[in-house]
Amino acid sequence: MRFLSDMARRLRASVADDLQVRDQVTVDNLRRLRLGALLALPVFLGASGWMLQGWLTGAAMAPWQWAVGLTHLSGLGLATAMGALSHGMLRRAPTGRAARALVVLAALLTLLLGVALTVFFQWVTPKATPLVVTAIGVALVFYLRPAVSVALFSGMAVLCFAVLPLTQHDPAMLASGRVSALVIPLTALVFSVMAGRKNTVNILLSRSLAQANAALAAKQVELERLASHDGLTGLCNRSEFMRRADHELLRAIRHRYSTSFLLLDLDHFKRVNDHYGHPTGDAVLCHVARLLSSGVRVSDVVARLGGEEFIVLLPHTSEEAALRCAEKLRSRVQAHPLETDAGPLPLTVSIGVVEAPPRARADVAAAYAAIDRALYRAKSAGRNRVEVGALDADCSATEPARLAA
Ligand code: GH3
Ligand code: MG
Ligand code: MG
Repeated sequence: MRFLSDMARRLRASVADDLQVRDQVTVDNLRRLRLGALLALPVFLGASGWMLQGWLTGAAMAPWQWAVGLTHLSGLGLATAMGALSHGMLRRAPTGRAARALVVLAALLTLLLGVALTVFFQWVTPKATPLVVTAIGVALVFYLRPAVSVALFSGMAVLCFAVLPLTQHDPAMLASGRVSALVIPLTALVFSVMAGRKNTVNILLSRSLAQANAALAAKQVELERLASHDGLTGLCNRSEFMRRADHELLRAIRHRYSTSFLLLDLDHFKRVNDHYGHPTGDAVLCHVARLLSSGVRVSDVVARLGGEEFIVLLPHTSEEAALRCAEKLRSRVQAHPLETDAGPLPLTVSIGVVEAPPRARADVAAAYAAIDRALYRAKSAGRNRVEVGALDADCSATEPARLAA
C-alpha cells in the first residue's frame, strides 16, 4: 500500500516536472523533427526512385514492390511536410499546442509507416526491420511524455499484431512476427520513457545550476560592494577612498592640476546619540551622507572615514573652489535638519579644507593630516564653520619628478 502511494507521489512529481520543461522540450523536439526529416529524405527518395524507375521502364513489378515503393513515396511526402512545418514553427514562437501536436503527429505517422512496411515486407521476408528502425527511431528522436509514449507504442504493437496475418500466412512465421510486433514497440516504449525522464531531469538540473550561478554572481557583486563601501551609509569606506585618492593624486601630478580634500565632522554628534538614541544617530549619518553625495559632483568621491567623520575628494579643484564647495556643504547640512517624530533635529558640521597642488609630492596621508589640523581649528573656533589648511612644507617643496615621470 505504501509502495503504491509512493509510486503515485513520484508519478505526480514527474508529471509536474514535465509540465515545467514542456516548452523547451517542444522546441527541442521540433529541431530534432526537422533534422530527422532531412536525414530520412535520401532513404525515402532512394526507395521511391527505385519504384518509379521500375514503373517508367515497364519492368514487371510484384505487388510487394509496389506497396513498399508507394509507402516510401508517402514517407517522402511525410518527411518533406514535417520538415517544412517544423522549420516554419521554429521561426515563430514554437511552444503552443499546435507545435506539440505536430510532434505527436510526426511520431504517430512514422510508427504507422513502420507498421505498413513491416506488413508489406512479410510477402517476401519474415524480418521486422522497419518495425525496429521506426520504433527505436521515434523513441530516440522525440522526447515524449510518458502517457503519449504508452499510447503510441502500445497502439503500434496492437495494430501490428492485428494486421500481420494480412500478408504473413505461414503460422510459424506469423507467430514469430507477432512476438516481434509486441516486443519491439514495448522495448521502444521503455527507451522512450527513460529518455524523456532523463531529458526532463537534465533540463531541470541545468536550470537550477544556472540559477545557482546567477545567485553566486550576485553574491560576488554584493561582497565586492561590501568590501569597498560603508555598510550603514552606502558611501565608499576608508580603504576604497584611499585607493581612489592615491590614484587621483598620481593622475593630478601627471596632468598638472590641483586636487582638494574636505574633512567633515558632525558637531556634537554624541549628544544626538545620548538624547535620541543610536538608531536616530544612525539615521543622521545616512541623512548627512545623502546631503553630501547629492551636494557634490558625480566625479567627486565622498567617503565615510568612520564614526561621524566624512571625507570628500574634489579632483581638478583649487583651494578657492574647494572652499566654496565646503561652504555650500556646511550650509546645506545646516539648512536640512533631520525630520524625526519629535520634530526637526538641527545639524551642523565643521569642515577642514586643503589643496594638494600638482607640484606637491603629497600623498593622501599628508593631505589627511593637513585637513585634520584645519578641522581641529574649525572645532576650536566654535564649530559649524570651514577652515583652510596647508600641506606640510616637506610635502610641497620639490618637483615630483618620480611620480610625474
Ligand atoms: P564634536 O563636535 O567635537 O565632533 O563632538 P562629537 O560629539 O561629534 O564628537 P565625539 O567624537 O565626542 O563623538 C562622536 C560620537 O559618534 C561618539 C560615538 O558614539 C558616535 N558614533 C560613532 N560611530 C557611530 C555610528 O556608526 N552610529 C552612531 N549612531 N553613532 C556613532
Ligand atoms: Mg563630531
Ligand atoms: Mg569625530
